[in-house]
Amino acid sequence: MSIAENIKTIKSELSAECKLIAVTKTHPAKILLEAYRAGHKIMGENKVQEMEEKYQQLPKDIEWHMIGHLQTNKVKYIAPFVNLIHSIDSLKLLKEVNKQAQKAGRVIDCLCQVHIAQEETKFGFSAEEIMSIISSKELEALKNVRITGLMGMATNTVNEEQIRKEFRSLKTLFDHCKEFNKENVEIKELSMGMSSDYKIAIEEGSTLIRVGSAIFGHRNYL
Ligand SMILES: *Cc1c(COP(=O)(O)O)cnc(C)c1O
Repeated sequence: MSIAENIKTIKSELSAECKLIAVTKTHPAKILLEAYRAGHKIMGENKVQEMEEKYQQLPKDIEWHMIGHLQTNKVKYIAPFVNLIHSIDSLKLLKEVNKQAQKAGRVIDCLCQVHIAQEETKFGFSAEEIMSIISSKELEALKNVRITGLMGMATNTVNEEQIRKEFRSLKTLFDHCKEFNKENVEIKELSMGMSSDYKIAIEEGSTLIRVGSAIFGHRNYL
């Protein structure tokens, strides 16, 4: 199957509320161009330098989504152009995004990453931390960021019921967060689902699936 065919197949499986983010990390710009020519313009990357290089090389109507852990000292490189940061995992990072967005004269949309998996290694806030951030006075002062939703990664397991349970708990938190909408909190995006579990994620209410290998094949890490 070609990249264009893979994208078409996945798009045919989406619900009306859900969009596909093509996760292009590790793939060269010419591969992204193939997706672009097939009509797909939303790309997800997990490394700042790689995203910035591809941004320079590729058409300017591509939407760039940062999906990987973001270090505060690197925010400045993507602040001028990034469309959505999925991986806010500390208040410190959010403040830095606000600062760099202000410098760039923009308001940057951000998702808070929630730890839903059983693995210890994955980044993210607890449900309690999310509630405390979105209802905090501190957030009101950050005029150049807007929290537009939540992101989560399920446990890497073949146990579908476990994955479903985790996605469902994230959806419940997402619905609860909507009650806290205010000037810079506008909860509408729920980023969950990757190649191995996006079908479950769609059933559980995802609005953004992040799919890499099911479109581009396996990644070769150097
Ligand atoms: C790499 C990555 C994906 C996509 O993974 P696939 O299994 O290739 O679909 C999704 N989300 C995040 C945060 C990633 O780092």
